[in-house]
Amino acid sequence: MCIFCSIVNNEIPSYKLYEDDDVLAFLDISQTTFGHTVVIPKKHVANILECDDETYAKLMKIVKELSGKIYQKTNAKGINILHNANEVAGQTVMHMHYHIIPRYDETDKLNITFAENHDKDIEKAYELLK
Ligand code: AMP
Ligand code: ZN
Repeated sequence: MCIFCSIVNNEIPSYKLYEDDDVLAFLDISQTTFGHTVVIPKKHVANILECDDETYAKLMKIVKELSGKIYQKTNAKGINILHNANEVAGQTVMHMHYHIIPRYDETDKLNITFAENHDKDIEKAYELLK
């Protein structure tokens, strides 16, 4: 069974921060930064590409509420919200989750950069996606 479903079912322990009928939040075991949290729907869906609107809305409401709470309680200077969808994007647990990652300074353990793509074709992207 999926590891996050096992956490939902209390088959493996977790540091739960929030729980209601549809949503669960618990500390990410990696603690990439202090207070790093994952928020999941209790229902097993793989990621945003498969998630129904109702589940998504419930999940995002809690992501927002917890982001504010964690930001305040940790005295973080900022916060990253991250969702990885599919392996190529770094998803390792195939049960939908949003990461809430408090940020403290440039020495903390998360590094996200948007490097410029020198082969970019922004006109082609626009024609495809508009
Ligand atoms: P992702 O790479 O976006 O799929 O993230 C999966 C996250 O789940 C990683 O940050 C892991 O540290 C975290 N994780 C895996 N197993 C557990 C667990 N048993 N309890 C808490 N977090 C976990
Ligand atoms: Zn699951």
